[in-house]
Amino acid sequence: FDMFVLAFLERLFRPTFKKDDFVLGKKLGEGAFGVVYKVSLADKKPNSKKEGDLVLKKATEYGAVEIWMNERVRRACANSCADFVYGFLEGSSKKGGEYWLVWRFEGEATLSDLVQSKEFPYNVETMILGEVQNLPKGLARENKIIQTIMRQILFALDGLHSTGIVHRDIKPQNIIFSEGSRTFKIIDLGAAADLRVGINYIPKEFLLDPRYAAPEQYIMSTQTPSAPSAPVATALSPVLWQLNLPDRFDIYSAGLIFLQMAFPSLRTDSALIQFNRQLKRCDYDLVAWRNTVEPRASPDIRKGFELLDLDNGIGWELLTSMVRYKARQRISAKAALAHPYFDSEGLLALSFVQ
Ligand code: ADP
Ligand code: MG
Repeated sequence: FDMFVLAFLERLFRPTFKKDDFVLGKKLGEGAFGVVYKVSLADKKPNSKKEGDLVLKKATEYGAVEIWMNERVRRACANSCADFVYGFLEGSSKKGGEYWLVWRFEGEATLSDLVQSKEFPYNVETMILGEVQNLPKGLARENKIIQTIMRQILFALDGLHSTGIVHRDIKPQNIIFSEGSRTFKIIDLGAAADLRVGINYIPKEFLLDPRYAAPEQYIMSTQTPSAPSAPVATALSPVLWQLNLPDRFDIYSAGLIFLQMAFPSLRTDSALIQFNRQLKRCDYDLVAWRNTVEPRASPDIRKGFELLDLDNGIGWELLTSMVRYKARQRISAKAALAHPYFDSEGLLALSFVQ
């Protein structure tokens, strides 16, 4: 069997759906390019009970690319992202039909919901471990929880990047806690680019969320010859990948998530926007930023530095290798997973202590 035949068979035996199969539930999100609902299946299908709750995105023309990305992720790195069930064109594309995308409902909370809670990071600890710890609360314990979350995010990113996909919209709102696997997974491949096949790698730059975007505006340098047609891109892109390291765009965004987890006062939108302005004024040099804010830091900011300074500043070291101006100076997801910050056990060790 070649890969094509396998993919075809897999697709053939997966359940297929059409419009009338879904009963719309709560609206989960609404953007410029689509609306997302929690849905259940109408009771017509014999096995419908087994499916459980699903998520349905009704998307505009960009939905076609998102279906393509989800199919690819499903085959190449299924654990990185929410479990994709099915995607199809509802109505005719000429008459402004919509693309419908269906995933398994992974859980109620995104990382954004969880980080905004006053209980963070202890609320996440309970969800990952499924039990309440009786250990005293404190910096070291918070650090372990944040370390575990970062490891899961980087693991998911490494899967995508190893597949040749850059997400380009990594932010807490696009990271869902999967209640089934008790891990964080990535969602929303609407702005993703597959560099190995050349799909969607220049369009939609305007989609990028400025709060979490790396300073380079385009993930491929403007020196890159303009988007080649798909067959050409297949031959070229591994080279382009090496030259431009487009995956490091996501690493910058993940670094900002790390920063927000470490510093409670940087968790609001306005604080993050202000931080971005300050960092830009420091020429994107985190050490320079630290030098300007630390002398007159609030207890809250000081606490963030203290957390990152644990174990000889190994967390701070990782953060500063993720949030850098030059993409090629940023650490890769794979290298980050091997960073000494992750050497000590995360939440697992905590549960053994008990
Ligand atoms: P948008 O383009 O509107 O940002 P997303 O794909 O990010 O669309 O989905 C919007 C919201 O729907 C997410 O922030 C999340 O709360 C929820 N959501 C999306 N996919 C899932 C899923 N598989 N399981 C549970 N909730 C999901
Ligand atoms: Mg989203």
